Amino acid sequence: MIPLRLRVSLFAALGLAMAGLLVAAFFAATTVHFPASSAHVPGGARHSVVAVNRYISLTTVTLGYVLIMLAVGACASYLIAVFALKPVSALAAAVEAIDEHNLSARVRVSEVGDEVSRLGRSFNDMMARVEQSFERQRLFAVNAAHELKTPLAAIIANLEVLRVGDRPTIAEYEAALDDVMADAHRLARLIQDLLDLQKSLEKDQYEHIGASDLVGEVIASLVDIAAAKNVCVEEHLSDAIVDGDRELLRRVFFNLVENAVKYNKDGGRVDIEGIGDDTQTVVRIRDTGMGIPEADLEKVFQPLYRVEPSRSREMGGSGLGLAIAKSIVERHGGRISMESRLGRGSEVTVTLPRS
Ligand code: ADP
Repeated sequence: MIPLRLRVSLFAALGLAMAGLLVAAFFAATTVHFPASSAHVPGGARHSVVAVNRYISLTTVTLGYVLIMLAVGACASYLIAVFALKPVSALAAAVEAIDEHNLSARVRVSEVGDEVSRLGRSFNDMMARVEQSFERQRLFAVNAAHELKTPLAAIIANLEVLRVGDRPTIAEYEAALDDVMADAHRLARLIQDLLDLQKSLEKDQYEHIGASDLVGEVIASLVDIAAAKNVCVEEHLSDAIVDGDRELLRRVFFNLVENAVKYNKDGGRVDIEGIGDDTQTVVRIRDTGMGIPEADLEKVFQPLYRVEPSRSREMGGSGLGLAIAKSIVERHGGRISMESRLGRGSEVTVTLPRS
């Protein structure tokens, strides 16, 4: 591949040469006159010979000039191209120097406001987004490792107590086994949640789903937890329809209704309402629970974020429920948001487009 600066200079030189040729042709046509019918005019033949000689020498001189113009033009335009493309070369060198270890590096952008500085600015903006995304991934990996480590450490500690204990009784074995089982379930749920967070969405699995049926199934599967907390759960979805992957959408509403029950007060309520038209369906899940402090509200959709870590863990929460719901809703092209008042309750709104 010919370098850009060489291509630029070749084009410029060819352009100059063509222009030179045109000027020369015009010059020759206007300065050399061939007599009309030289044979019948006295001395006409001599005039013709002179004209032809003059034309030949003019053409030779012109060609010489054209060649000189070609050479000088190529050199000059090469130098101009090198100078003009210098910022592009600098940008390329700076971009090449950036790898995954120095994502905070940025290229220097001149204040000129030309195409190259625009390119530099766009590159820097893109790097800022890439850096943020890497940082989010890093934090997520650290938090996920921490979450996985906690139940594992508890399992190891339980087994260790049994191993070094002086002839543990059957009751002690059973108690340790129950603890190990509970921690193993926590691990399994966490791993499933982590997988669900990345689960891909197949458009060919889209269905038109009656929201009332879907949420009805969710409520049925949460009946024990709701009864234990004496929480009344009701849906008023009538004939609202949601479009998407049934399993994934079930997961969304399960996570949201489960939260509305889990973080509710004893004897509280959960109401699920829906309205829709041809373009979208909006489902609202309102609870009368403990609510979320305003400062935490925008962070609750981040993976592994918990408002009160100990309380959420006690309730078996992995800190991934809302992040999974958000990721699924967004993969369906929808939106999810939450409003909450501390001590009064929360309302989650899911908006899904109709397909
Ligand atoms: P978890 O699995 O721990 O419940 P989530 O991602 O579902 O994690 O929720 C994140 C945090 O948001 C929880 O720790 C909880 O404190 C808070 N939260 C979620 N839903 C509600 C709700 N309806 N009412 C009060 N707090 C909630």
